Amino acid sequence: MDKEKKNPVYSNTDTSKVVLPEEEWQKILPKDVYHIARQKGTERPWSSKYEDFAEIGTYYCAVCGNPLFKSDTKFESGCGWPSFYEPISKGSIIYAPDNTHGMQRTEVMCGRCKSHLGHVFDDGPPPTGLRYCINGVVLDFNKAQEAEKKYKEEGTSHKAQEDKS
Ligand SMILES: [Zn+2]
Repeated sequence: MDKEKKNPVYSNTDTSKVVLPEEEWQKILPKDVYHIARQKGTERPWSSKYEDFAEIGTYYCAVCGNPLFKSDTKFESGCGWPSFYEPISKGSIIYAPDNTHGMQRTEVMCGRCKSHLGHVFDDGPPPTGLRYCINGVVLDFNKAQEAEKKYKEEGTSHKAQEDKS
């Protein structure tokens, strides 16, 4: 993926915290990701390809690659954004009160890079009763086991090139 080459902090396995100056994020991230993740923007409802999406796999932070949600905790909320009822682990997400726009909401951020992801509401389904309402722009999705397969394929094509030269 181009993104991984351009983004030096992107990793699906490194759990160390990522702290970068905002101008650095601006250089690394695509414009739409930067706007939502670092400027706390919100994508248009119904605009995410992950809103109506039922593949089995894992959702990662598009900014740093931190695993955030599993597809089996995703549900049809009808709110216009990808919705989940539980994060992949306690540390994968951090919370902050958000009283902007005349509302009392709880902001959710990536536990690794502190990028803005969306908000959590208490009108979700059991077992948690929570609805994590997440901007699809800041999500990366990997089908179960696809990551590993891709890695192997890339390895083979590299080898073929070396053999030629
Ligand atoms: Zn992140």
